[in-house]
Amino acid sequence: MSSQTSTKAALITGSTSGIGLAIAEAFAANGYGVVLNGLGDTDDIKAICTRLTTTYKVDVIYHPANMMKPDEIADMMALAQNLFGRLDVLVNNAGVQFVAPVEEFPPEKWDQIIAINLSSAFHTIRLAIPGMADRKWGRIINIASAHGLVASPFKSAYVAAKHGIVGLTKTIALEHARDGVTCNAICPGYVLTGLVQAQIPDQAKSRGISEEDVIQNVLLAAQPTKQFVTVDQVASFALYLASDAAAQINGAILTIDGGWTAQ
Ligand code: NAD
Repeated sequence: MSSQTSTKAALITGSTSGIGLAIAEAFAANGYGVVLNGLGDTDDIKAICTRLTTTYKVDVIYHPANMMKPDEIADMMALAQNLFGRLDVLVNNAGVQFVAPVEEFPPEKWDQIIAINLSSAFHTIRLAIPGMADRKWGRIINIASAHGLVASPFKSAYVAAKHGIVGLTKTIALEHARDGVTCNAICPGYVLTGLVQAQIPDQAKSRGISEEDVIQNVLLAAQPTKQFVTVDQVASFALYLASDAAAQINGAILTIDGGWTAQ
């Protein structure tokens, strides 16, 4: 990549698919250099980088850090800040789900979900903050969930992690309110990505109902609009939070859930 230290840079964890990829594309389309991260097929990820670079004429780099591994996260954060000379926007988006009654919930799945959905954000934030505070400008956007505000059965680890990231968001917002750094959480309702599609069979099994019943009567039952949120709607929200217009939105836990948590 060319050295573009004057270009704003955004790092989005878990941006090889779903919501993260839509957010990465929105930032690239708005002139940001982008650091992609996440799991996936190497050729597919290369193709995403090439497509974003050629379409939007911005530098796009990929780092394969596993969000369960603090040393790999540290390597990613250092590489991003060295290559771009700065990190203006950090979006903590990587997340996984596992659905089972608590008495059957595998302890290793609990540890994995807490590591990826919660602890990884602590590690990225602690390493992004010094540069943001020095430059007196930064945006930290945590992709929480409606499950950061309310619970559903069979999702003990996910709901605990998402409630945790809501608390982390508020704490960081207070610690750096005088530094031009904001920290907010977006709480989407159901978005039809791989993460949701993958849990439909497990939900059907846990509840003893058909997969179609899970979509209509479990997932969309929670959303008064009876429509899924789209990845582009979440990406537009993130882009707005990164704008100067959003400078006074700080420590906010913002829903985009079709009215789910209004009930
Ligand atoms: P997704 O499965 O499409 O994307 C998850 C991303 O995280 C992928 O890029 C994946 O490779 C990455 N990832 C998973 N494990 C990782 C690891 N160990 N290290 C690095 N990256 C890893 O799912 P999504 O629906 O786009 O989810 C993105 C975020 O949005 C998650 O935090 C999720 O909890 C949250 N969310 C999703 C919904 C929804 O309905 N889809 C609703 C609310 C919140």
